[in-house]
Amino acid sequence: MERFKAIWITKTEGEKKQNPPEIREIGLDDLMDGDVTVRVEHSTVNYKDGLAITGKSPVLRRFPMIPGIDFTGEVVASDSVDFETGDKVILNGWGVGETHMGGYAGYARVKSEWLVPRPSDLTGFEAMTIGTAGYTAMLSVIALERHGITPERGPVLVTGAAGGVGSVAVAVLARLGYEVMASTGRPQEADYLHELGATTIVERAELQGAARPLAKERWAGAIDTVGSETLANVLSMTSYGGAVAACGLAGGMDLPASVGPFILRGVSLLGIDSVMAPRRLRIEAYDRLVRDLERERLTRISTTIGFDEIIGKAEEILAGQVRGRLVVDMG
Ligand code: NDP
Repeated sequence: MERFKAIWITKTEGEKKQNPPEIREIGLDDLMDGDVTVRVEHSTVNYKDGLAITGKSPVLRRFPMIPGIDFTGEVVASDSVDFETGDKVILNGWGVGETHMGGYAGYARVKSEWLVPRPSDLTGFEAMTIGTAGYTAMLSVIALERHGITPERGPVLVTGAAGGVGSVAVAVLARLGYEVMASTGRPQEADYLHELGATTIVERAELQGAARPLAKERWAGAIDTVGSETLANVLSMTSYGGAVAACGLAGGMDLPASVGPFILRGVSLLGIDSVMAPRRLRIEAYDRLVRDLERERLTRISTTIGFDEIIGKAEEILAGQVRGRLVVDMG
């Protein structure tokens, strides 16, 4: 039987913490149940994968586990009427890489309803440049649009802008004609953010510290990947009738905010979840990404790494040292 490499994480009974990740040779029998088996061609490293690999947050809820919340590849076996051998597919989320063995392996076996067909004009590399981060950025853009935030309403802020979600959000918003303000804690990434289409850089520190109930109105909408005090400040600076799509917690899970922006300015807080998002919304997000994200920008925001580099990148992404998207070429 064919053997292939996987990142394998175990937990010793009675221990609170998971064991450090290992690279193991495994076979298809080691995978979990599912009606479709996929040869993984590309994967990604997201912030959540960093948490899963290092164990810094209890992302993994079943052991042994193969992390990796995103992958794309070719179907090699299918008991589903929806997919046949040779189909190219994408998987983002659904607990894969958390409770079901994920993308950091030569093969993955999953439920067919978790898969979306890969649009024919999207390569595997491009699909993973997008990954959960990019598709979450698009879900956030769609949420703002549904709330009526148009380019005419005023600028849109993106926090954690040099990260994966942030970079795609900046690129998509700029392409759609919004004036994009990009908040970053890394001033050295200003050129990169301008190249993606940001017009103004907002220093991360401007959005830190205790938020006032209301502050000067600065943007009509925002996509926040940071949470905590940052989100509270973003809300307090959102203009009348505006909206903030909250999709991340890179700065903390708390929200030390007041109701001021909601009850005095009619600001709305829009929650974004990519993990359990329904399939039709995923397909809509991918269609929009194919249309609204310039391919050449995808290459600019991504760095390709090999399978053996995944574990090392986990610490870097948690330390906020990764720019844009990391694409794993499974070789
Ligand atoms: P990245 O690590 O690529 O980006 C996060 C960015 O946040 C960093 O690049 C940095 O941006 C900024 N940042 C990091 N630490 C801090 C801090 N302490 N205070 C303020 N800013 C900070 O991660 P991703 O883009 O993959 O994910 C971003 C967030 O979105 C994560 O919290 C992730 O869990 C969440 N997420 C949520 C999803 C959902 O379904 N809701 C799906 C995908 C991701 P800069 O250097 O520019 O300041």
